[in-house]
Amino acid sequence: MTQFKFSKRVPADGTDAVGAILKAAADPQIISFAGGLPAPELFPVKEMKAAVDKVFATHGQEAMQYGAAKGVTALRELIQHHVKEKENVDAELDNVLVTTGSEQVLDLVGKAFVNPGDTVLVEQPTYLCALDVFKTYGANFAGVEMDEQGMKMDALEEALKSRPNTKLVYTVPNFQNPTGRTMALDRRQKLAELAAKYDVYVLEDNPYGEIRFAGQHVPAVKSFDKTGHVFYMSTFSKTLAPGFRLGWLVADADVVNKLTVLKQSADLHTDNLVQYAVAQFFADNDVDAHVREISDLYGKRKQLMADGIKQYFPAGVKYTDPEGGMFLWVEVPGVDDTVELFKECLKHNVAFVPGDPFFAGKPQPGAFRLNYSNAPEDKIKAGMKQLGEALQDAVAG
Ligand code: PMP
Repeated sequence: MTQFKFSKRVPADGTDAVGAILKAAADPQIISFAGGLPAPELFPVKEMKAAVDKVFATHGQEAMQYGAAKGVTALRELIQHHVKEKENVDAELDNVLVTTGSEQVLDLVGKAFVNPGDTVLVEQPTYLCALDVFKTYGANFAGVEMDEQGMKMDALEEALKSRPNTKLVYTVPNFQNPTGRTMALDRRQKLAELAAKYDVYVLEDNPYGEIRFAGQHVPAVKSFDKTGHVFYMSTFSKTLAPGFRLGWLVADADVVNKLTVLKQSADLHTDNLVQYAVAQFFADNDVDAHVREISDLYGKRKQLMADGIKQYFPAGVKYTDPEGGMFLWVEVPGVDDTVELFKECLKHNVAFVPGDPFFAGKPQPGAFRLNYSNAPEDKIKAGMKQLGEALQDAVAG
């Protein structure tokens, strides 16, 4: 057997704990609230086919040819106007980079800014793939405490003072993955100020902000940025189609230029056909109405899930009540081993993602993430009953 000499970037244990969880949850017997998939029944397949047909008729050769690393101009212009309309973010074309999923922004920012040993401050808990990405570049993490209003700014400032080698603060301010929490307006302003004061960068990751089914929109941290310290990223994955792998970065032109060079080394450019098709789709359809339909459906599903928690879960269980997005977060007191709890729930044919991998530091026992966007209503009702029974057993045992 060959002992391959992998680089230091490859995780030494080589295991994919979350992959194993999702695999176990994929058994057709099991009602899974584990994954993070949008509702496929709302994918605008017919309209997108019409957009693709039009692209082949009007830009067939450009769509099939190599293209610009920064992206198709029509799509970059669309993104420029979109961030102004939705988030009050002022951007020139030079500030926009199209990426292969917004996941690529995480990778490019990690590659461009994180030297081994640099500190990356993250919400506690945070998006686990972001931890994985920054880990490959040798980041040291420190978790910053959250409450229902998002990352606590006093805790963040303490962390910034005590860790002068901090490079990056990573936040998912809207309907965070995994908790569903949203950062309050005053904290967003403060976050932009702290980034400038301590000369660190904020990576604002906003895949879910448009999927709001209750409450008032809160403008992006980037809209308060006066110094270029905030990098804003988002995606078409939750509003149109994750399979298209289309995301974007809005940042200072210098940052965009450097990341473009790195992107060129990674994949030359993002798929042209998909870029043209999405731009065409926006031109021909009422995308706001489409996003409203998604939000309404997820709002109903979230409510069913919350009703299920109230009806079936043991007393004392805490849970978040998101105003949008795809996830809520549950904390079951008295549980020490959430992975064991997961295994017990599998026996009751229901699944979630245990909280542990979302923590940069010590995990919070008994916490887990539930997804409500993907399962139809009857499955949510049945699954919450099963989950409630499993938790009652676990707490009693
Ligand atoms: N950031 C967060 C917080 C996410 O939840 C996801 C998707 N799970 C991504 C980034 C990546 O999304 P995509 O690459 O599909 O744009």
